[in-house]
Amino acid sequence: MVAVEIILASLLLIVAVVWFAKRSKSDKNPLAQSEQTSSPESLALSSLLDATMTGMREGLLVVNRDMRVVASNPAARKLFNPSVTTLQSQRLTELTRNPAIYSAFLDGLKGIERSGVKVETHGPERQVFDLRVVPIGANGNGAEGALGVFFDITRTERLEIVRQEFLSNVSHELRTPLTAIIAFVETLENGAIEDAESCQRFLSIIRKNASRMHSLIDDILELTAIEGGNVQLRAASVDLFALVEDVCASAAAKAAAQNVTLKNNVDPEVMVYADERRLEQMLTNLIDNGIKFSREHGTVSISYESDTRDKILVHDNGDGIPSQHLERLFERFYRVDRARSRDMGGTGLGLAIVKHLALLHHGEVTVTSELGKGSTFTIHLPKGQ
Ligand code: ADP
Repeated sequence: MVAVEIILASLLLIVAVVWFAKRSKSDKNPLAQSEQTSSPESLALSSLLDATMTGMREGLLVVNRDMRVVASNPAARKLFNPSVTTLQSQRLTELTRNPAIYSAFLDGLKGIERSGVKVETHGPERQVFDLRVVPIGANGNGAEGALGVFFDITRTERLEIVRQEFLSNVSHELRTPLTAIIAFVETLENGAIEDAESCQRFLSIIRKNASRMHSLIDDILELTAIEGGNVQLRAASVDLFALVEDVCASAAAKAAAQNVTLKNNVDPEVMVYADERRLEQMLTNLIDNGIKFSREHGTVSISYESDTRDKILVHDNGDGIPSQHLERLFERFYRVDRARSRDMGGTGLGLAIVKHLALLHHGEVTVTSELGKGSTFTIHLPKGQ
């Protein structure tokens, strides 16, 4: 857990203990240790604590010396047995067969505080909890009871998995060109350098792979900055026709090399509300893909439509994308044909960048495609004021 979460968790535990102590007094619970007070301040504090415990996402469970439940909140009931209205008096062993939970509470009753106990549920929706147990009313002979808080760390765990997958993808993506570079340098060192023609060919392969690594690192840094909220948009009215003209001019050489025609079908008076540089980046990515995945003598056209939002469409008449891939297309490193994408110098991050830039604009990017006919990527942007 990160530092802030640890502080919050500790605070929550303190609040939970105070709540239980208050509750014990008002319930005349055997675990109670002092006289009940009912000053207005104390009543207000009690109802505030009750509301907090009832509303909190963390499950809260208190057991007595006999391992029977003496208090629980709705989140704990949902966790252990959603069909009952109370867990009161039930044995812990009736609620769960999980030995980790049992041993944590047992330690709590021995006066030992436990934290970092990982608990997983395997219902229809897998959930992961971090359980912390503190003793209540501890004396030399152990404790009167034990209070456990179940922190839901499902999301944190999921993010951690995504982060690990991303790291492993990045390492893998970097290793491929690096291996090629090392192999060709060794070939040169082993004599190929003497042959001018091979030397030239190998150097150009080395350069191509080094450029791939460069683009990959650029894209990773860009995506990390956007996702990390470190990109500030400067949205203003943008002349879409002029912007598309500029992007097409920059992509002209690439399009010509593939015999692809670029068509700007946007009307000259169309204005959209966006960060011009970022919109240019999105269009460059989509047009670049349109060219890469076009057929020989294909066309990539850019048009504009207006409904509740501004829509900028980048259409190509290439091979299209099989429908089973469409849903995952905007994920990082997702590619329909990995080898083909690499061959064309792709990083597999272009569409993820477009997606995040569109989201930053409070818009989105969508795709429709028909095999053999082509694909249309649409950037949807909210209308300007
Ligand atoms: P890449 O660097 O591979 O182009 P992207 O994130 O830009 O990475 O695109 C991901 C994948 O989506 C591509 O590898 C390709 O399989 C598919 N794709 C993207 N645009 C098109 C398109 N216009 N036509 C067909 N396939 C496309």
